[in-house]
Amino acid sequence: MIIHTVANPDPSLMKDLCAQYGAIVFQEREQQVVVLASKVRELEPRFLPLVREKFVFDDDIQLGSARYRSKKREVHFGDIAIGGATENTVFIAGPCSVESRAQIETVCERLVKEEIKVLRAGAFKPRTSPYVFQGLGTEGLQLLGEMRQKYNLSVITEVRDATHVDAVIEVADIVQIGAKAMYDHGILRACGKSRKPVLLKRGFGSTLQELVQAAEFMLSSGNENVILCERGIRTFETKTRFTLDLCGVAYLKEHTNLPVVVDTSHAMGYRYGVPDLTRAAAAMGVDGLLIESHPTPDKALSDAAQQIDLDTLSELVASVRKVAKAVGRKVV
Ligand code: PEP
Ligand code: MN
Repeated sequence: MIIHTVANPDPSLMKDLCAQYGAIVFQEREQQVVVLASKVRELEPRFLPLVREKFVFDDDIQLGSARYRSKKREVHFGDIAIGGATENTVFIAGPCSVESRAQIETVCERLVKEEIKVLRAGAFKPRTSPYVFQGLGTEGLQLLGEMRQKYNLSVITEVRDATHVDAVIEVADIVQIGAKAMYDHGILRACGKSRKPVLLKRGFGSTLQELVQAAEFMLSSGNENVILCERGIRTFETKTRFTLDLCGVAYLKEHTNLPVVVDTSHAMGYRYGVPDLTRAAAAMGVDGLLIESHPTPDKALSDAAQQIDLDTLSELVASVRKVAKAVGRKVV
């Protein structure tokens, strides 16, 4: 159940309400929102004057649900908006990791040439093995900050743990929470305290319900700028790295009010499949696409097999623009 209270509710009544029902209270634009646990159905009569709207939910998909807000949330970064009534599909591209100044500059030059406005690259990499490249860390973040200024790009980069969330928020336009960090409550809580847009990736072993529940942690802390990302889930199939869950994308579009981005690179794991999958996702009218691209993919220090080279990226963005147009959307 959710109650929207009027702008200036009686503070003592609010205090009682929180104490009695363990409610979460946060500010959403001009009003305070009170969220009660989904099992609370009826309130004591003295609290009823506070209630402006009441929703009864059967599960914990609440603030992020289409029932709570039938209109999709609009998220802004740089001079771009996605979601809402925009019909925009943002094309996000860049290498898995920032590796050097020369590497990232080469990528940025190509992005600018192709009018791609969002650079993605990891500085803090959550790798599966401790014996491989872990990212340039703070030095990588600094390089991203420089690229952002020099090329007038928005930057998305990931947080590996809660200790550097503030440093990433300082530099990035969008904070990425990776698949392995989807359940990291230190990160979720730190990102919930900010208003910075967050791209929350679905854990590869997580249900759609669990993905949205993780998003609810940030939404119920007052960060309205949450974007969901499907990046492939683990199935019985081993020929591809993961399985891109486009059914899940359809579910999220239908049942949530959050913008949805599709990362085809991590789902496929091999570069040959990335262009077709990206066009397929674009045809679904998603809010964004996230593609890993590297000047010399075979030499990449992380995710070498799946990164496409820059010429393939140029061809891909051109074809995605056509697909998007065919389904009434615009690539930004
Ligand atoms: C990445 O985006 O480079 C990454 C590590 O992705 P994921 O968290 O989806 O595995
Ligand atoms: Mn990667």
